[in-house]
Amino acid sequence: MAAARVQGPKPKHVPLRRCVVCRASSPKATLLRLVRDADGSFKLDPGSVAGGRGAYVCRTCAAEPNEKRLRQAFRSQAAQVSALLTAVQAVAGQSNDSGIRTEA
Ligand SMILES: [Zn+2]
Repeated sequence: MAAARVQGPKPKHVPLRRCVVCRASSPKATLLRLVRDADGSFKLDPGSVAGGRGAYVCRTCAAEPNEKRLRQAFRSQAAQVSALLTAVQAVAGQSNDSGIRTEA
């Protein structure tokens, strides 16, 4: 007997990334990417174009940052990241890519 081949609909491969705050894996596209700048501060990387070390935060955590978790994930940068996420929320839904950049 030939082995039955599983012929289910093949899901498109979705790259998953883990939220550094709640540690849940989500499709990369739904996460916010933060990159660490040369000066040590984090900023948003809307198009995932910046090189270097990135951290991902899911929308849920971005909307309601858990300070304690943030501190565990970002240490001394937690306050800065928290402010960044708040700023992101302010512009979320208004535009996709442009305008989300934080001022230096
Ligand atoms: Zn999360």
